[in-house]
Amino acid sequence: MSTAAPAPKWKPRLLTAVGAAALAILVTLSGLTLAPDAAIYDTLALGAAPDADPRIVVVDIDQKSLAELGRWPWSRRTHAQLVDRLTLADAKGIAFNILLSEPALFDPEGDALLARAISRSGRVVLPVFAEPVQLNGATVELMPIPEFAASAASLGHAEMVLDEDGVARSVYLRAGLGSPHWPALALALLQLEQSTGANAELPGRRLVTTDLAPASPYEWVRDHEVRVPFASPPNAFRHVSYTDVLNQRIPASLLRGNWIIVGVSATGMGPITRAPGQPATASMSGADYQANLLNMLIKDAAITPLGEGWQAGLSAALAALPLLLSLLPGLRRIWLPTVLTMAGTVVISVLLLRYGHVWFSPVPALLVLALGASLWIYRLLRRTHKQAQSDALTGLANRTRFDHALDQELRVARRSDQPLSLLVMDIDHFKQLNDTQGHAAGDAALKALGRILRSRARRPRDLVARLGGDEFALLLPETSAQAAATIATTIHVDLANQGRKPHGTSAGTSPPFTASIGIHTHMSGDDAGPEDVFDRADAALYRAKQAGRNRSVSHTGEPDAIGTSATRV
Ligand code: GH3
Ligand code: MG
Repeated sequence: MSTAAPAPKWKPRLLTAVGAAALAILVTLSGLTLAPDAAIYDTLALGAAPDADPRIVVVDIDQKSLAELGRWPWSRRTHAQLVDRLTLADAKGIAFNILLSEPALFDPEGDALLARAISRSGRVVLPVFAEPVQLNGATVELMPIPEFAASAASLGHAEMVLDEDGVARSVYLRAGLGSPHWPALALALLQLEQSTGANAELPGRRLVTTDLAPASPYEWVRDHEVRVPFASPPNAFRHVSYTDVLNQRIPASLLRGNWIIVGVSATGMGPITRAPGQPATASMSGADYQANLLNMLIKDAAITPLGEGWQAGLSAALAALPLLLSLLPGLRRIWLPTVLTMAGTVVISVLLLRYGHVWFSPVPALLVLALGASLWIYRLLRRTHKQAQSDALTGLANRTRFDHALDQELRVARRSDQPLSLLVMDIDHFKQLNDTQGHAAGDAALKALGRILRSRARRPRDLVARLGGDEFALLLPETSAQAAATIATTIHVDLANQGRKPHGTSAGTSPPFTASIGIHTHMSGDDAGPEDVFDRADAALYRAKQAGRNRSVSHTGEPDAIGTSATRV
């Protein structure tokens, strides 16, 4: 047998490639792989975590501040003082990640003081929160009260995007009610000095195209979706206590020229989430989230998720690739292209993330490739199993499978009180045929007998086997002695006929030959084992040979009775 892989048929491979591509697209669009996508993204993103920029300082409203300054909410005068302190220290920009959407009921003067402090500073950015008023109700924008909004240098939305697993991975750099008019808070802070604001330069996946009809004014519209490369740990930025800044326990040098993000970190008070790849116990405050956004923007490190079309297209191409590669000479064994493509898929994903700042999920392509590999392994195992049980020349069952089947069928026959017939046959003077006409003619004769036996074993449980050399067997469950004898006769007739007319198949024409057949029918009540059954049929075969060949002999009967009915050639 040749060890070279046979040339693959290109048509079925091409069709399978199309199927694999279609499956990859389906898997991508179904969103079924979101959980493994996220798991792989978290692992890869953690490896690419950027350093925390030392120019970003988080001012924490922490337990210590609450202990010193009293219960929340604090007077707006306190915030005014803090803003003054930060302004005096010459902070580059101040983001106040605190909801200021209600006027102070009993202290309008405090509000006025804060508004003036904000105005004096000229560098304070205030948040707009998006919130449904009621559960599942329409979203509204919670704006700072007009005095604050008017004094602020800029406003930015503070939406924290949480995935279904509660982890914050993304941000929309622009969002707003009806249209994405607000920059993200950190972006607004950065734009204080750059004052670009040009949408075109923003990174991220575009979700709003200008030629689309304007969205409903009640719909929260998002654009420029990016995945945030979080610093590790996500609170790796400089942190100072609100109260320490207020009471000037922090050197001004720590604040000068830096971006300040003020927010709540005390547990139970603010939105707390988790950054990718962090343990469930590691929380991240809203201020830390904004600090990470700013860090990403400063370092130009925003990760853009591939659009669905590109993700599906690339996955489809990769899923189909091994099948297409396998059409090339030298790569015919499908496993090599499959393994190479799987590795390539992961490499592409990693390289795109590291150097292109683009997120391509390898999961859909890997899933389809793994499915293909499993199917291939399954088929290989099945073929190997089949090969181990079949005869290479004739494709019939081999001795191993025959022995197993005889054992099985004998048990069934005993249980069901049914007869079991066994025909054992051997080609007559086969050695001579081989010697005079050549080995190839001998092989053709063996195949011809195989074909005839197969055509006579019509029931599903009938088994034709080549026991070795020129010896064959036909196992016929639920077949009486008489029926077995009839079948033997037809085999003799078939052999005689095929000797007369050339068997014009591609397998080659066989020279004429005859065979001798030994028959034994196991009847109910006989407790003979499989070896006994075989030996009896074999003994009958021996007697058929003795009696002059080209005939059948039944184990119980006398040589000839049946055999003479066969046509002699
Ligand atoms: P008999 O009528 O008594 O059976 O005589 P025979 O010549 O057929 O004797 P026997 O059954 O012992 O001969 C078996 C021969 O079968 C020996 C060998 O040359 C030949 N043979 C065995 N396997 C193969 C095979 O795969 N291909 C071919 N062409 N010949 C084979
Ligand atoms: Mg023989």
